[in-house]
Amino acid sequence: MSERIVIVGTGVAGATAAQTLRREGYTGEIVLVGAEPNLPYRRPAVSKELLAGTASLDRAMLKPMKFWADNKIDLRPATRVEFIDIDRATVRLSTGEELGYDSVLLATGARARDIDTASTRAHTLRTLSDVAALQSAIGTGGPLLIIGGGLIGCEVAATARGLGAEVTLLHAGPALLDRVVPESVSELVHRLHLEHGVKVETRSATTQLVDTNDGVTATTADGRTWTAAAALIAIGSIPDTALAEAAGLVINDGIVIDEQYRTSAPGVFAAGDATTEFSPYRGEFDRGQHWNSAMTAGAAAAKAILGHPATPAEIPWGWTDQHGVSLQFAGWIHPHDELVIDGDLESRDFLAVALRDGRPVGAVAMARPRELRAVRPIIAAGEPWSAAPPFDLLTSR
Ligand SMILES: Cc1cc2nc3c(=O)[nH]c(=O)nc-3n(C[C@H](O)[C@H](O)[C@H](O)COP(=O)(O)OP(=O)(O)OC[C@H]3O[C@@H](n4cnc5c(N)ncnc54)[C@H](O)[C@@H]3O)c2cc1C
Repeated sequence: MSERIVIVGTGVAGATAAQTLRREGYTGEIVLVGAEPNLPYRRPAVSKELLAGTASLDRAMLKPMKFWADNKIDLRPATRVEFIDIDRATVRLSTGEELGYDSVLLATGARARDIDTASTRAHTLRTLSDVAALQSAIGTGGPLLIIGGGLIGCEVAATARGLGAEVTLLHAGPALLDRVVPESVSELVHRLHLEHGVKVETRSATTQLVDTNDGVTATTADGRTWTAAAALIAIGSIPDTALAEAAGLVINDGIVIDEQYRTSAPGVFAAGDATTEFSPYRGEFDRGQHWNSAMTAGAAAAKAILGHPATPAEIPWGWTDQHGVSLQFAGWIHPHDELVIDGDLESRDFLAVALRDGRPVGAVAMARPRELRAVRPIIAAGEPWSAAPPFDLLTSR
């Protein structure tokens, strides 16, 4: 058998792994299999410029078609890997074809968490093919009900308002984006949405979503009801572990991997949103859910497959764009961590570092991407904040 690496999933983890294998000098066969019909694309654009209609599909592609052919990457869109036979080291594709492998990389990502509803007016948003349906629901002026005030719910609220739709955002938690930013920044984001005409209801967990004569109606735990033409369910994601589970791999929320991206089965590696790994920074298992983490994991997994030294995992970090404001965040912030702030929250120009027991555990910034980048290694080092360089040195890096 000739050398062959099969990559399952054409998201950023899988696509980056394929590119890295070639960059690292691998000359064997690379088969990149993806269930979605498109070339690999920038998923973050889905809730922003693609939904807004301000970017073309071409601009959202990670690489043009020619790149995959030139690099002899056998890209198979609209194809699922249906089964992995670990003992025989083969994968079975939805085309019926069976491929042997030397190594297989699972980069199956995540899917949108759904709620139990028969509503035909409820949408989720994860892929390019979800965009058109939501666009047409917004295009008729809404009103749009968004269930979930996390990153995707807030971004779609902003994009939909930009398109002129009436938007009501129902969030179960006490504050918007409470999974990634501290309380004071949540309040800032809340005000930003109000200023742009989004109706925001926090502490409003949706218990039922049904179609009615007037559209779709959500009932919240306190018995109130909300009706709109369409609803977006944006309540988080679930790692896509179906293939791994069927193959008997160890799962703990995501597919469990070690620091060399190995799963519990020989020759089977995994990377990206589908995985859970032990975080040396937190001392517990963690599942990444951000673009850059998935991209660096894809590159590192490719190196690990080839036996080349992989760069250690970074602390997680991400960004979001809402109503023309860009917010970056890193690490693991609890709403009530102590904050040290450089700049000014009110003027939306700041870097805030979250401290727990005097050590930096996360940071959030508006209009300061460079400063956020400079503080990430300091969070990773876990030294007391009193030993870190003062803000003015940090910001001049
Ligand atoms: C709307 C949206 C906006 C986002 N915005 C941001 C942002 O602003 N900033 C940020 O940091 N992060 C953002 N993210 C998160 C980021 O996009 C993800 O963390 C990242 O895309 C994960 O990459 P991945 O390759 O691990 O998985 P995915 O991107 O989920 O890709 C996995 C792929 O595997 C395929 N697949 C699954 N099973 C099979 C199978 N059996 N056979 C073949 N193919 C299979 C899936 O169809 C999918 O195409 C956003 C996510 C979404 C959904």
